[in-house]
Amino acid sequence: MKTTRGLNARKTEAREYQTPVSGIFFTVKKVLYTGRSRFQTIEIILNRDYGRVLLLDGLVQTTERDEFYYHEMLVHPAMASHPKPEHVLIIGGGDGGALRETLKHPVKKVWMVEIDGQVIKACREHFPWLRPSLKDKRAELVIADGNVFIEKTAQKFDVILVDSSDPVGPSTVLHQEAFYRRLKSRLKPGGIIAAQAGSLMLHQDSHARKSVFLKKIFRHSGLYLGPVPTYPVGMWCYNFLSDRVDPLAARKMRLPEGLRYYNPEIHRAAFALPNFLKERLGSGLSK
Ligand code: SAM
Repeated sequence: MKTTRGLNARKTEAREYQTPVSGIFFTVKKVLYTGRSRFQTIEIILNRDYGRVLLLDGLVQTTERDEFYYHEMLVHPAMASHPKPEHVLIIGGGDGGALRETLKHPVKKVWMVEIDGQVIKACREHFPWLRPSLKDKRAELVIADGNVFIEKTAQKFDVILVDSSDPVGPSTVLHQEAFYRRLKSRLKPGGIIAAQAGSLMLHQDSHARKSVFLKKIFRHSGLYLGPVPTYPVGMWCYNFLSDRVDPLAARKMRLPEGLRYYNPEIHRAAFALPNFLKERLGSGLSK
């Protein structure tokens, strides 16, 4: 059965995220889960090439086959750049991949703040890697809007990871200046934020728009890149934000065993930006 389900085009603000005009397709071998929550439609399908695929509002969030590309590049550049990350906050991340990677580090506590409990329920059932992470004594799952959580919490964090969906619906607020100012106020001195930032080619307006306010808020603010085969154009961007930590400063990196994608060479290469993007951002990492 052929279906256009799973076009990996992504929606969000302005023209860049209107109804998809390009993408890839997934033939559905089996529908494992389908439901609608207060926030979005949730589907988990089985595909011959990518295994289990999570879709929110018809858009690819994670696939069993390539999720490690994304989760390792979201989590480890920040965790490995911080001298001793003890308290970590994950905003979003309902599929659990970011939590799994974070718990590979000797952290004291990780809060995962996911707005949609139904995503967690569906992923706990169909993505085996989520269960052990949720059972880990160091992990605390909070079902709440990440923006409201950081407004209310008195806790401060060494590393904050924003594993949000695109800036539509519940996730819109997680891509705005006010949210990043609030995030900064919850960082401990020397703290680091890493956030998924969208497609290298399709979301340049949003990169340019965000880089203007991020450079005002953080001393070190820049993009780094990593491939995610099932995301638009297969090359994804992430923000690295900190007042004290320069991600390219030489340091001994303490890396967990068994990483499948990330290593110190990949780290350095990820911050090398193509000229067209540097021009859009005005010379990449700000000092
Ligand atoms: N890797 C994926 C990506 O780059 O699009 C993101 C995956 S993860 C499943 C995204 C999660 O963010 C979803 O489970 C969604 O429910 C959650 N989310 C969206 N808006 C949120 C908010 N305001 N607060 C907390 N979680 C939110």
